Amino acid sequence: MTAGLDAMLAALEQLLPDRVSRRPADLAAAAHDASSLPAARPDAVVWPLSTDDVVAVVRLASERAIPLTARGAGSSLEGNPIPVRGGIVLDCSRMTRVIAVRPEDLQVDVEPGVVYAALNRELRPHGLFFPPSPGGSADVATIGGMVANNASGIYSVKYGGTRDHVRAATVVTGTGELLRLGNRCRKSASGYHLLGLLVGSEGTLAIATELTLALAGRPAARRQGGFRFADATAAARATAELIRFGIDVAAVEFLDDRTIAALNRFGAFDLVEAPALLLEVHGSEAGVAEAWQAAEDVVRGTGGVPLVLPEGRDAWTIREHATRAIAALRPTAATVRADLAIPIG
Ligand SMILES: Cc1cc2nc3c(=O)[nH]c(=O)nc-3n(C[C@H](O)[C@H](O)[C@H](O)COP(=O)(O)OP(=O)(O)OC[C@H]3O[C@@H](n4cnc5c(N)ncnc54)[C@H](O)[C@@H]3O)c2cc1C
Repeated sequence: MTAGLDAMLAALEQLLPDRVSRRPADLAAAAHDASSLPAARPDAVVWPLSTDDVVAVVRLASERAIPLTARGAGSSLEGNPIPVRGGIVLDCSRMTRVIAVRPEDLQVDVEPGVVYAALNRELRPHGLFFPPSPGGSADVATIGGMVANNASGIYSVKYGGTRDHVRAATVVTGTGELLRLGNRCRKSASGYHLLGLLVGSEGTLAIATELTLALAGRPAARRQGGFRFADATAAARATAELIRFGIDVAAVEFLDDRTIAALNRFGAFDLVEAPALLLEVHGSEAGVAEAWQAAEDVVRGTGGVPLVLPEGRDAWTIREHATRAIAALRPTAATVRADLAIPIG
């Protein structure tokens, strides 16, 4: 591969001056993600700034059969941006343009390197937000990485995951062909759902260079809090009942008693060490009051008792400490973070 790679990098340096690197520090930074999986160094890192750049890089790599791995912020927990076969890391984190906000359509067009939290800051004056928050990585995760991972988070119970919000995409296939997938309308004719294949394909099918995302209106009001239960079964039953009664919850997160114990040890939260649900509801002032009351009635009916949170701490601040609190129990051990979901409906 070396001769082919050297020739390719020489060609790339002509095309993208100062945006091709073989510096050890850049290779080391692109060799891992946020998981504890083994790192693997690429042979080079390339930073495209446009769709044309991506087409050029992919074509050169394809012609010479050089492995190519797309990368956003590298915050994945499953190892998928790690270049296990070496070659090129195509780092999309400099493609950061918000191309167009269309408030009337509740849509935005973005490049893949736009960071989730930065996008929502830009949408705020329009009274809009992009809902599928990737939780604790919101301030680093890129939209390209979210789409490739079909990221979802605490608000997915109400708003859905990333897949539900991608309307269209401009992509570059593995041979450097440019495709436009989907369209801006919800309604469309029959046809293969290639956009659906792209979302969640972890960069294996195509590189996304522009994405059209559907947005939601920022709720005028929100309320959050927690409930503790005698056991995990009661907490699970409360969750099922909330959904069954059609209570419009924006977030429902479960913490088991061992996690609560770890949090107490880590952050002195002084919580009762019992399984807990953290809830949030969104809507108008009146809608939130009504939804919270309905949620509380259902949860109390399954044995839930309101959680007393320490002064000045909200439910999500506590939850955000969970990984670090668990890791602190055994600082020398590797931590494997994964989502656990239960089927409802
Ligand atoms: C503390 C913490 C909390 C997290 N919480 C959540 C959570 O609640 N929900 C959740 O879903 N995830 C979560 N994650 C995982 C991760 O942050 C998200 O999945 C995030 O969307 C990954 O984005 P990224 O920019 O870091 O992508 P990367 O990790 O760089 O890449 C992810 C995948 O996207 C591909 N890719 C990147 N850019 C492109 C592109 N332009 N075209 C095609 N493929 C591309 C890569 O090849 C790779 O397969 C968390 C991570 C951390 C560290």
